[in-house]
Amino acid sequence: QSKANGKNSYFLFTKEMNARVFKRIQLESDMRQALKDQEFTVFFQPKVQLGSGAVEGVEALVRWQKPDGSLMSPADFIPLAEETGMIVPLGEFVLETSCKAMQVFDGIGCSDIRVSVNLSPIQFQQDDLVEMVVSSLERNGLSPSKLELEITESTLMTDVQSSIAKLNLLVEHGISISIDDFGTGHSSLYYLKNFPIDVLKVDRSFIRDITTDASDAQIVETIILMARNLGIGVVAEGVETKEQIEMLREFGCELIQGFYYSKPLPLEEVITYVRSIGTACMIES
Ligand code: C2E
Ligand code: MG
Ligand code: MG
Ligand code: MG
Repeated sequence: QSKANGKNSYFLFTKEMNARVFKRIQLESDMRQALKDQEFTVFFQPKVQLGSGAVEGVEALVRWQKPDGSLMSPADFIPLAEETGMIVPLGEFVLETSCKAMQVFDGIGCSDIRVSVNLSPIQFQQDDLVEMVVSSLERNGLSPSKLELEITESTLMTDVQSSIAKLNLLVEHGISISIDDFGTGHSSLYYLKNFPIDVLKVDRSFIRDITTDASDAQIVETIILMARNLGIGVVAEGVETKEQIEMLREFGCELIQGFYYSKPLPLEEVITYVRSIGTACMIES
């Protein structure tokens, strides 16, 4: 009897469902293997100080470099990595690789470069997150003040009390926190009041049309003003044109990240970029 039921439920899968489930399982096992085969790599995108023109920091962005040479964008595998828990080992790889990059920056006299690492909700919820991050820094002999963790509003929303506790712990260790994609969540102002935040990253969707859409311009100007009054740093994300730069300069925005300055680059290329543009300490000295 039960055998027959089992058989029936098997047949409830439609062809499309089978194909979708199969594709997912395939991608998951590919991802597991790719991590072993070191197919994942980390690119770095510069953040530039609008005033001095110096590189203030870089954001670490993971890439999947397939053996055929193609690059897979994180948008195509991070969601599944989240669902399957693969994001935990993948995230540790990104953090460790970022620590190695910080050592390289130290080595070329650019120890003032701050490296930002994205944390997904599942990573943030790990009980040993703080330990993992701190031990990675210690193992690599790095100062925590050079690390910034980028967290989205929805990540913090899951469990507000434990998020506040975790952020406080990270901040006590000297690690900086930025809110990624700021403005796209549901209670942006709540975060500013209740969480120990160092930096807001204004989402690209607000920046895109600032030169043509008056309300986008108003929103961005207001976010920048508010952040300044609260003593919080601001990064404008996804800046692509000279016109956007000029507007953001008028608004008093400090930091710019976007294709206008540079796309995310492999470590060797970002080093070349940093050497040509300079960091704050290089420009001052
Ligand atoms: P994000 O953290 O908001 O990263 C910024 C994204 O905007 C990057 O896309 C970057 O390449 C893109 N971008 C930067 N400037 C411009 C611009 O001027 N124009 C345009 N059109 N795009 C620009 P990317 O690298 O494809 O990453 C997408 C998202 O995937 C990231 O958004 C982040 O949420 C996630 N992600 C990437 N790497 C990691 C990682 O190591 N861990 C986790 N958990 N998530 C990651
Ligand atoms: Mg980010
Ligand atoms: Mg973002
Ligand atoms: Mg994003």
